[in-house]
Amino acid sequence: MKKSRIYFTCGPTQLYKTVPKHIKALLQNNILSVSHRGQLFMDTYRELTVNLRQLLNIPSAYQIFYLSSSIESMERTLQNCVVKNSFHLTNGAFAEKYFNMSLVLGKKAINYSFLPVEKTNLDEIKIPATSEMICVTQNETSTGVALPMTEIYRLKSRYPKKLIALDIVSSVPCVGIDFSQLDLVFFSVQKAFGLPAGLSVLVVSPSAMEKSLSMEKKGISTGSYHSFSSLKKYADRNQTVATPNVFLLFLLNRVAADFLKYPLKKIRRETHQKAALLYTYFDKHPKYHPAVSAGRFRSVTTIVVNTGADTDKIIASLAKKGMIVSRGYGRNKKTQIRIANYPSHSMNKIKLLLQQFTRGFLIKVVGK
Ligand SMILES: *Cc1c(COP(=O)(O)O)cnc(C)c1O
Repeated sequence: MKKSRIYFTCGPTQLYKTVPKHIKALLQNNILSVSHRGQLFMDTYRELTVNLRQLLNIPSAYQIFYLSSSIESMERTLQNCVVKNSFHLTNGAFAEKYFNMSLVLGKKAINYSFLPVEKTNLDEIKIPATSEMICVTQNETSTGVALPMTEIYRLKSRYPKKLIALDIVSSVPCVGIDFSQLDLVFFSVQKAFGLPAGLSVLVVSPSAMEKSLSMEKKGISTGSYHSFSSLKKYADRNQTVATPNVFLLFLLNRVAADFLKYPLKKIRRETHQKAALLYTYFDKHPKYHPAVSAGRFRSVTTIVVNTGADTDKIIASLAKKGMIVSRGYGRNKKTQIRIANYPSHSMNKIKLLLQQFTRGFLIKVVGK
């Protein structure tokens, strides 16, 4: 008999419950062979854009572009909106990738790296006049640090002339975002949307668009076939520049509609309830504690737990029960686990996972 498995990994992760049904329907209707220049594709593209705008409250003046990954989205934002200087708030590996990418692209990048504690105040961060774009990772999947949205909006109100780029890859749609206070916002679909990997959504404000067009006018390179002007030319016709991931665009359209119907408000409420359960549990656990101690900076979607020398044992024992969690990221590989708390993970499944830490193998570890 095949044992069932559930992925509490940070991404890719467990598929959202409606995804298998949607995949079957795509196959049954032979949708995956249609042309990306044809009517059915363009209709679905338009519907997807409408659904995303409604689901995430994206203003109509903001452009929505579809790219292959969020790493690509990072590169597009730097190429299209930074002539020379970017500023990066970093709390872990993904933010650092963004920073390093800017250097590789030949820009001057400033890395403001900090480990948030309860007293940390983002209002104290001084950003040089020369910085054109402030790059922020709202939910740092590698460390479980999340920055409160209200504090990110205050960056924009303190520096209204600068563009704010926000990585919401592993928090969307569980965290509410006011796009009107941001300029370049991007996410991938293999995290909280519970889809297979290979598609990123990049939302661009009118000021960011303007900046890119003015750079292009001055003869500054903004990239080639994926420059904002080129992306916009095709988006205006409900198409993409290159042959896109039609499979995921169609699936994202379906899941966005499912989230709208559920509705999203309930998804967000449940996310907070499950996160509270996880944090309360590990706060009380005799041995394993949340890696982020400052409550204000705890991610609700990616929970990182210090598991020390027991890490390998925990991962292996959970796997035996069909529960797959992520290891710590990079140098924390051997000392932490990461648990995803997305719409794919029901309260019941989270409880089942936590039960493993209470009984069975872990009680022995705990009891000794
Ligand atoms: C996963 C992740 C990325 C990278 O997304 P890709 O789709 O793999 O390019 C970037 N930032 C954060 C915070 C992530 O969790």
